[in-house]
Amino acid sequence: MTNNVIFPTEGTLASIDAYRKIGGYQILEQVLTDKTPPEKLLEEIKNSGLRGRGGAGFPTGLKWSFIPRGLPTDVYLVCNSDEGEPGTFKDRDIMSKNPHQLIEGMILAAYIMGATRGYNYIHGEIWEVYELMEKMVEEAHQAGYLGENILNSGFSFKLHNHHGYGAYICGEESALLESLEGKKGQPRYKPPFPASIGLYGKPTTINNTETFTCIPYILRHGGKKFADLGIPNNGGTKVFSVSGHVERPGNYEVPLGTPFTDLLKMAGGVRGGNKLKAVIPGGSSVPVVPGDTMLTLTMDYDCLGKAGTMLGAGSVIVMDETVCMVQALVRLSYFYYEESCGQCTPCREGTGWLYRVLKRIANGTGRDGDLELLISISNKIDGRTICGLGAAAATPVRSFLKHFRSEFEAHVNNGKCDVAA
Ligand code: SF4
Repeated sequence: MTNNVIFPTEGTLASIDAYRKIGGYQILEQVLTDKTPPEKLLEEIKNSGLRGRGGAGFPTGLKWSFIPRGLPTDVYLVCNSDEGEPGTFKDRDIMSKNPHQLIEGMILAAYIMGATRGYNYIHGEIWEVYELMEKMVEEAHQAGYLGENILNSGFSFKLHNHHGYGAYICGEESALLESLEGKKGQPRYKPPFPASIGLYGKPTTINNTETFTCIPYILRHGGKKFADLGIPNNGGTKVFSVSGHVERPGNYEVPLGTPFTDLLKMAGGVRGGNKLKAVIPGGSSVPVVPGDTMLTLTMDYDCLGKAGTMLGAGSVIVMDETVCMVQALVRLSYFYYEESCGQCTPCREGTGWLYRVLKRIANGTGRDGDLELLISISNKIDGRTICGLGAAAATPVRSFLKHFRSEFEAHVNNGKCDVAA
């Protein structure tokens, strides 16, 4: 028996029968039969120490306590399955391999917060996962776990899948809500926050796929058991999507606090026995870490935070000694330039400026002062935009220059790359 929360078995659990065989939906039945007070369940979520798995790492129990209770209005629940950042690919695996645990987690969350309707917003480029989730929701509905008066408890909850069209910015929670409402997917000014004015102007809680999928385990086994899987302040397990220059890229579920070296070993090590040059440990928007430093770190919010980076969504991009950091940054910058929604001038203009300056450096036509210019543009984007995409574009530029400045200088001074590819 594994201690895995998200992937409890080797194979797929993509049917209600397979999920029930491992105890699926038992805790939901128990909660609804016993009419367990939602406050008691919320305490258990708080005790688990679960932190949002979508990137911010905000305590889930605390977030759920922001939802106003007892108001004569609908409350909505939204699952953010719109992962689209370079390096992220865990949520599609969770939905493919253990879809009912996500559905059960959303129903339990809805019960705790008094939500009557839920939406699972699925990234537009994984159509087959959307189709699978449609089948799984129908199975849960047929089994009586969704709909009106679930298991004669008096509690009703309807769940809908919704597929996006692939825009990265729709993973930002307020842009996602705009998109769900049928509008252009552009972030909203905050405040107000979704907990008070969210979908269709109603109180709304938005969590990541992996976060909801942890809920049945926590309520079945208790918050303490979940917390004890990890380390203090970093409870539970985490799915890490390891990509780049490793022998076996893929999703690996390990306890938070696991040494990076162990995770790298699970992924088969650096390809061809090459030297590790750099790692982006949480998705392309978090600061890059030099390989030697990364080998000393553990995979949890606190250790990575102290090291000047972030756990983010747990998307670990591994780069070996053959990587030209200038070219790598050009590629990342193009992504943010392409995905800017265009609402704020610093982001709309600044991301394009970053990309063009980096491109000329990579092409051997960089100018004196370009590195200072890159830092200046980054600083002028960061903190002056409606949403976090501006900062996400600026952060890699500053961290690549901080740790690998000599490579950028060589490109500017010599007009070519010093790294043998
Ligand atoms: Fe749009 Fe960029 Fe402004 Fe976010 S920061 S709202 S993506 S222009």
